[in-house]
Amino acid sequence: MRTTSRDSLANRFWKHVDKKEPNECWNWTAATAHGYGRIGSGSFPSEGRPRILLAHRVSYEIHFGEIPSDMMVCHRCDNKRCVNPNHLFLGSQMDNILDAVSKGRISGLNRFSKRNSLGRFSNISQSL
Ligand SMILES: [Zn+2]
Repeated sequence: MRTTSRDSLANRFWKHVDKKEPNECWNWTAATAHGYGRIGSGSFPSEGRPRILLAHRVSYEIHFGEIPSDMMVCHRCDNKRCVNPNHLFLGSQMDNILDAVSKGRISGLNRFSKRNSLGRFSNISQSL
């Protein structure tokens, strides 16, 4: 059965989730990478070797199904360790960057673009 390895991944997944109320963050309790929960994929016979998966993506797949290859799983709550499916949504890479900028998470980019546009304005006023 192809579903066997996926079931065991789900079983292992739930062992590391601090499951709370549906509207609260469910924090990942095992290892993290760059702040995101991570979990080994186990051995999928078709893939040969175990891979490291991100826990919030695994959560999304368990609850909603496969993630399109060009889409990312984003957090409404901005808590990278959170795997609550109610806090997850699909976005493109650009959505994710814009979301991060609007929330001030990529402050460097904000500062850069502000300084850049200010510089351009002062150039214009000087040439007028
Ligand atoms: Zn959350």
